Amino acid sequence: MIAFRSLAPNEKILEASEENSKFIHASDLPGKPDLVFRNRKKAIFVHGCFWHSHESKQCAIAHMPKSNIKYWKAKLSRNRERDRKNLSALKKMGWKTLVIWECQINKAPLLVKRIAAFMGR
Ligand SMILES: [Zn+2]
Repeated sequence: MIAFRSLAPNEKILEASEENSKFIHASDLPGKPDLVFRNRKKAIFVHGCFWHSHESKQCAIAHMPKSNIKYWKAKLSRNRERDRKNLSALKKMGWKTLVIWECQINKAPLLVKRIAAFMGR
């Protein structure tokens, strides 16, 4: 089992992916995925739970602010819409994508399993 120590999120994911190739923060791809494996056409996003509205009962981070609700609802729903468009644009370009949520980063065994499945190991 991989020991995660105190690595930054992207380093943890890279370690879990067991890829030797260098990843690039790809500004030329829709949504600028956080980790990109070009030779495999696979991209991983690390989403902040609040900004990307993580819809999960297990998520302790995502929440709707108690003031300016109208503003936040509109803003967060725009973010969600943008995420959806980016993922579908990548899919059309032949890329496989995986979204890792901020609150899942430290759940090592689960994270490793998901990434291994995504990378096809
Ligand atoms: Zn979350």
